[in-house]
Amino acid sequence: MEHTRTQAAPGGARTLLLKNAAMLLTMDAARREIRDGGLYIEGNRIVAVGPTSELPATADEVIDASGLIVTPGLVNTHHHMYQSLTRAVPAAQDAELFGWLTSLYKVWAHLTPEMIEVSTLTAMAELLLSGCTTSSDHLYIYPNGSRLDDSIRAAQRIGMRFHASRGSMSVGQKDGGLPPDSVVEREDAILADTQRLIETYHDAGRYAMLRVVVAPCSPFSVSRDLMRESAVLARHYGVSMHTHLAENVNDIAYSREKFGMTPAQYAEDLGWVGRDVWHAHCVQLDDHGIGLFGRTGTGIAHCPCSNMRLASGIAPVKKMRLAGVPVGLGVDGSASNDGAQMIGEARQAMLLARVGFGPDAMTAREALEIATRGGARVLGRDDIGALEPGMAADFVAFDLRTPQFAGALHDPVAALVFCAPSQVALNVIDGRVVVKDGVLQTLELGPVIERHNGLAAQLANLAR
Ligand SMILES: [Zn+2]
Repeated sequence: MEHTRTQAAPGGARTLLLKNAAMLLTMDAARREIRDGGLYIEGNRIVAVGPTSELPATADEVIDASGLIVTPGLVNTHHHMYQSLTRAVPAAQDAELFGWLTSLYKVWAHLTPEMIEVSTLTAMAELLLSGCTTSSDHLYIYPNGSRLDDSIRAAQRIGMRFHASRGSMSVGQKDGGLPPDSVVEREDAILADTQRLIETYHDAGRYAMLRVVVAPCSPFSVSRDLMRESAVLARHYGVSMHTHLAENVNDIAYSREKFGMTPAQYAEDLGWVGRDVWHAHCVQLDDHGIGLFGRTGTGIAHCPCSNMRLASGIAPVKKMRLAGVPVGLGVDGSASNDGAQMIGEARQAMLLARVGFGPDAMTAREALEIATRGGARVLGRDDIGALEPGMAADFVAFDLRTPQFAGALHDPVAALVFCAPSQVALNVIDGRVVVKDGVLQTLELGPVIERHNGLAAQLANLAR
């Protein structure tokens, strides 16, 4: 990839020209796919999209994208990045959700602020290298002085667009919840800290690099009161709300037994539906729930690898989309995936839909749409997820000259999903080159991974 840079003209915003892309997938309203395409960027926003011949001839920074397919940056709507420290833990390798959680909670009780920061850097590096530019992270366990600030610091260091979700757990085992009492927090402290985070960090503006989300962990780990109060707090500040819902059949049974309602009824009762809400999984969402979410614009984070890993089932994504439910893609936590690669996740979404509902249940282009525009909508954003004038300058490129694409160049867009390229050549976020020639530019990754593995070993030893 040829890349030239000159000094920006004084006074004006720095400009960037991407030219000669073999294919440019816009995901705009017309879903244009442009051969020999390019982008012209001023500062952090796109000002022109089209064939290279119709764009300005030069800019402060010029990237020659010959041989590359360029797409909007992928949007990850669900993750627990700290779990990168507890991948493939033997006791949790072969369990369903509740058993898996029960064996991991006691390990996670030893997390420290440094572990949160280093694991978030590692997880974000993996996402950036696999085509993601915006990610949410759902951190719901805060032992030993850990804070959401530790994740936020990591996002700022590595340069990822970030929706930091202030998770929480307040109902421990003695009160009939699933988590051990040692890892739950007091509800007044949760709400006060959430308010502090919103006031300190939340940016409601267009092109925001950082937003804060109110995110109690799940109906089986927080009280009705906290769900209700969290919604009131979120709506007071105009921030999004996120939780886990209807993940598997045990989750449904818990909801019926404890609350006498389905998860969708419970969500509606507590104010947890609307365009400002998205729920992870919803594998077992019933027809009433699908209709309700469609009517109210309540979003879903679809996490196919995690759903397969924990044998939770197959989310009815086609049915949801036909009912008008906004659907985004999520890799879910690294302890239940355990590979957080966005383009790989899009492929699994397509394949799993077909296993469940037939060969026309999801096309490659639909999988890409869910991973870009779909995720943007779920996160409540209209400034990312497509390449068109006025959108944020977030885009990625994959090299069509690699073995993964060989033989599929007649349809490089479909090949992106069918052929499973694992790594990007280029990742640009907010107009800044974050990955170039497949190498992360914002951070020296080697020492981070080394430290991450040292910390993971400490946790593994404590777990014995
Ligand atoms: Zn999750």
